[in-house]
Amino acid sequence: MNNVLVTGGAGYIGSHAAKALARAGYCPVTVDNLCTGHADAVKWGPLHRHDIRDGAALDGLFATYRPIAVMHFAALSTVGESATSPLAYYDNNVAGTIALLEAMRRAGCVHIVFSSTCATYGIPEQVPITEEMPQAPINPYGRSKLMIEQILRDCDTAYGLRSASLRYFNAAGADPDGEIGENHDPETHLIPIALQAALGLRPRLEIFGRDYPTPDGTCIRDYIHVTDLAQAHVLALELLLAGGETRALNLGSGTGFSVLEIVSEVARITGRRVPHVFGPRREGDPARLVAGDGRARDELGWRPQFSAIDRQIGDAMRWIDRASSAAGTGTHGGEQPGTTPTRI
Ligand code: UDP
Repeated sequence: MNNVLVTGGAGYIGSHAAKALARAGYCPVTVDNLCTGHADAVKWGPLHRHDIRDGAALDGLFATYRPIAVMHFAALSTVGESATSPLAYYDNNVAGTIALLEAMRRAGCVHIVFSSTCATYGIPEQVPITEEMPQAPINPYGRSKLMIEQILRDCDTAYGLRSASLRYFNAAGADPDGEIGENHDPETHLIPIALQAALGLRPRLEIFGRDYPTPDGTCIRDYIHVTDLAQAHVLALELLLAGGETRALNLGSGTGFSVLEIVSEVARITGRRVPHVFGPRREGDPARLVAGDGRARDELGWRPQFSAIDRQIGDAMRWIDRASSAAGTGTHGGEQPGTTPTRI
């Protein structure tokens, strides 16, 4: 019996975790409503198209597969959208998790690895951010994830549910074998947008703000390769299955890069200009988010292997190139469309 129920297993991080689970000898059973996920990203186990708020459907999956644990990725995850549609976020994320936890209780499943976020810290007092620092999220997305962390701790006290809440910093990159990658619609993340601009797949990148209190005036983030994130999930799962206690861990590289540094790296790696313009700050963007990553290394024995920034950008570039070739949009040849590109 080595089935693991993976909610949101058709999404970006969930699909990479499913691959890591399969490599480690588990069978990932994906449940995903496909509202943002992609069926063709589910390659390492069965896919069931259900919403996690459908308790009867979950009961059926627990009865059929008797999973030893759950990895819970299913969620809405766009910060800006959460500010305009908070009820959808609390319903999908919080109510969805409660429905999942109720089904786990009915089935007697007591281990869960939860996809949390550094957005639960809000605007940090200092960086690097360690797990003990106050959590004060500044948008409904971050608040929904913090509520879930709190619910998980209460369920440990009340029902003995053991959880690992993994607070991701900026997930980036794509499967090193090229089997899966990032596929958001619309894409909102910096690295794929900068790559698309460099490769002529969009006119330009807009850089949100150049007056932050950072050396070059642009925001600093901690980028972590999605395959390293996926591996941390497997390690957390195995720690829980071995009797480990409930915990929360940051998952980041411990190194920060500014937006302009990423643009520069994208230009170097693609060998092309990254057409860009400067725009106003984006609502709710802290100047710096960098992980204190010691606890995940100590407690999980986690050693990120793919998180050098050039590796993350290179794997993302190969995925975008492959996806655009398959779609017939192509990234090679011809002039890049452009505004007034700035050579970085
Ligand atoms: N960013 C940007 N232009 C974009 C997308 C992102 O300047 O089109 C900036 C954003 O303000 C942030 C950083 O890039 O400082 C990373 O943003 P992303 O959306 O990738 O991840 P987040 O930090 O929001 O999780």
